[in-house]
Amino acid sequence: MSLTGKYDQQNIFAKILRGEIPYAKVYEDEHILAFMDAFPQSPCHTLVIPKKPSRNLFDIEPQQLTAVITGVQKISAAVEKAFSPDGIIITQFNGEAAGQTVFHLHFHIIPKFPELTMQRHGRGQMAEMNVLLEQAEKISAAL
Ligand code: AMP
Repeated sequence: MSLTGKYDQQNIFAKILRGEIPYAKVYEDEHILAFMDAFPQSPCHTLVIPKKPSRNLFDIEPQQLTAVITGVQKISAAVEKAFSPDGIIITQFNGEAAGQTVFHLHFHIIPKFPELTMQRHGRGQMAEMNVLLEQAEKISAAL
């Protein structure tokens, strides 16, 4: 898939936004949704997405992008407060060649814990929903 093209209404995050599949919600407002990554690279791996259909970083109005990145900052701070990682990695991929697998813009918030090896991008194991819900609740409570 190229960086331009049509937004696919059947992508997995569009389904999450429509409430068609289960997910562990962390935060929602009129512009953004944050939820736990189902295949975490590290425990508490969180995703932030715009509600507006946008394929990637080049497919969103600056004003909407401001809401998304402000959300990333706010939710990262809550992850830090809730789980005290050593550091937090923020990533974002544009296009299949760059490693993007879900074609709805998203930022990854990946905490780094000293005792744990981080999984490579796209190589995480599927997490238990009850674990994700517990983590989401703790991050949400720290907001
Ligand atoms: P990317 O590879 O940057 O496009 O990231 C897509 C992310 O979505 C990956 O980290 C996946 O683990 C994650 N993901 C895929 N399906 C789901 C799902 N159903 N719920 C939550 N996260 C998902």
